[in-house]
Amino acid sequence: MNKPIDPNKIVVFTGAGVSAESGLKTFRDSNGLWNNYSIEQVATPQAWRANPELVLDFYNMRRNELNHVEPNPAHIAIAQLEKQYDVVVITQNVDNLHERAGSTKVIHVHGELTKARSIGDNAVYDIGTKPIALGDLCPNGHQLRPHIVWFGEEVLFIDECREHLQTANKVLGIGSSLTVFPAAGLLKQARFNAEKIIVSMEVDKIPFGYKFLRGKAASLVPVICENWIKKQHQ
Ligand code: NAD
Repeated sequence: MNKPIDPNKIVVFTGAGVSAESGLKTFRDSNGLWNNYSIEQVATPQAWRANPELVLDFYNMRRNELNHVEPNPAHIAIAQLEKQYDVVVITQNVDNLHERAGSTKVIHVHGELTKARSIGDNAVYDIGTKPIALGDLCPNGHQLRPHIVWFGEEVLFIDECREHLQTANKVLGIGSSLTVFPAAGLLKQARFNAEKIIVSMEVDKIPFGYKFLRGKAASLVPVICENWIKKQHQ
């Protein structure tokens, strides 16, 4: 049986577009090339087997970028929603900008740059923005790899995310092309009666029942969040 909707619950679902105005490139806006690397070269288990050094270098660069970017008004507005609502952020992003803006419940379905994973026992370790080198081992003696869900690997926490969407009273999707599955399919889990909005520059297909607002996250998201906070006061 379906769990009931929680009137105070908001799910915010984000993709690379929410971090674009912080200076982190999206996949889309670089034509599927992420700073001159193709997906096949750096974001698959085959790439890791063929050239682990290149893969580590690529993610070391991405991780180091986090030292030079800040949360933008969209990340900050999402965090502010917690003053009035129970908010769950489900993100496809591997950056840490939601946490740095103050969001306390963030689910990273595609992993996190600031973590490393043992290839032996899958244990996960916080590494901050430090690089990983070939030869860096976990305490049990296995090589560490980026804690990133590569293409062809299983997305994390998907059942938990479905349940959050099914019980949310409001759902806000931001800055995702909705092309990378299964994460992109999550928005369809939202209930018929929930208030549902998508903010993006472009989306392939708007899921049923969502109001689409075309525009930049840092301009539109603070307005939506302020309205929702005001509504809760009334
Ligand atoms: P995507 O690149 O496929 O789509 C980005 C979407 O954001 C597009 O629809 C684009 O129109 C929109 N957009 C661009 N600038 C925007 C802005 N300022 N405001 C609002 N919308 C804007 O990204 P995706 O859907 O997240 O999927 C691609 C995969 O790339 C994800 O799995 C993610 O893990 C990975 N990725 C992550 C980061 C990051 O962590 N910051 C960056 C690049 C890619």
